[in-house]
Amino acid sequence: NLYNMVQDLKGNIRVYCRIRPIFNDGSVVDFIGQDGSLVISDPSKPQREGRKTFKFNKVFGPTSTQGEVFADIQPLIRSVMDGYNVCIFAYGQTGSGKTHTMSGPLNGSTKDLGINYLALSDLFQLSSMRKDITDYDIRVQMVEIYNEQVRDLLHNDSSTTKLEIRSCTADGGLSLPDATMHSVKSTADVVKLMKLGDENRVVSSTALNNRSSRSHSVLTVHVSGKDISGSTLRSCLHLVDLAGSERVDKSEVTGERLKEAQYINKSLSCLGDVITTLAQKNSHIPYRNSKLTLLLQDSLGGHAKTLMFAHVNPEVDSFGETVSTLKFAQRVS
Ligand code: ADP
Ligand code: MG
Repeated sequence: NLYNMVQDLKGNIRVYCRIRPIFNDGSVVDFIGQDGSLVISDPSKPQREGRKTFKFNKVFGPTSTQGEVFADIQPLIRSVMDGYNVCIFAYGQTGSGKTHTMSGPLNGSTKDLGINYLALSDLFQLSSMRKDITDYDIRVQMVEIYNEQVRDLLHNDSSTTKLEIRSCTADGGLSLPDATMHSVKSTADVVKLMKLGDENRVVSSTALNNRSSRSHSVLTVHVSGKDISGSTLRSCLHLVDLAGSERVDKSEVTGERLKEAQYINKSLSCLGDVITTLAQKNSHIPYRNSKLTLLLQDSLGGHAKTLMFAHVNPEVDSFGETVSTLKFAQRVS
């Protein structure tokens, strides 16, 4: 059918929308379709004039659970064990639910854990079930990209280390050879590391006024194993909590804050450009225009699979940002 044909043409890029629950204001969401359509309305206009329709591969409404979201993407996660490189991105303005989707609540509770944890725990389970692959090894790295500088989040003294990205190394895998690599054997190991990573992000956030919303965090899961013929399987899963996509008013901010905003703007638009050119099957992909796309180069395009979650805060006050998030996501989908 037409839908599958379109998917084939676009390759392995999917875009989902996830709408956060409302905490105080009214909602701009009018309709969520099973087919991935989303209708919102401009609160400042009469209904018929202010309606906008968007179309995604799927829309998760405000009542959808972490478990429902994970159940949908589980096959994508599992394809890592078949040798595919996979990237999952959380995009959206600050407060729209990116960290909720990727990490879950950061209060140490084990309820509502996000994709990062559920994915690793699923990979452990799958690796113990599959008999066609042996010597499984699962290792993780976690870095932050802030003002186009890469910092290790799993290093005990993460403040000092600025990392170099080396793309296309001889072994075809590691693009951040100097970031600490941690072998994980159980979900307990994972929880411990994620806590360290989150703490390292939080340390700088108190110093620099919620820096976590102005940096990209990238959790990379490296999987290797041996198949029956003895050859090595090697693939990776990148789980990316992007910096907040909100536009800042250039007339209102200066200095550091303006510089940060410009870096974020540039890297998010580079990411959009890369995904768009991939979907158009262009031969020149502008990976080198940002640290983020350079770092993920091996996992974007080719046989890699990409999923972007466009996060929406449905409250009336956020209408402008919601429209720009949905437009961005529509452009890459
Ligand atoms: P972001 O990372 O985009 O800045 P957060 O993930 O921190 O946003 O979400 C902002 C707030 O909304 C947090 O308190 C978070 O727990 C809550 N939240 C976000 N999405 C959901 C959801 N789907 N269900 C329940 N609470 C959510
Ligand atoms: Mg966040």
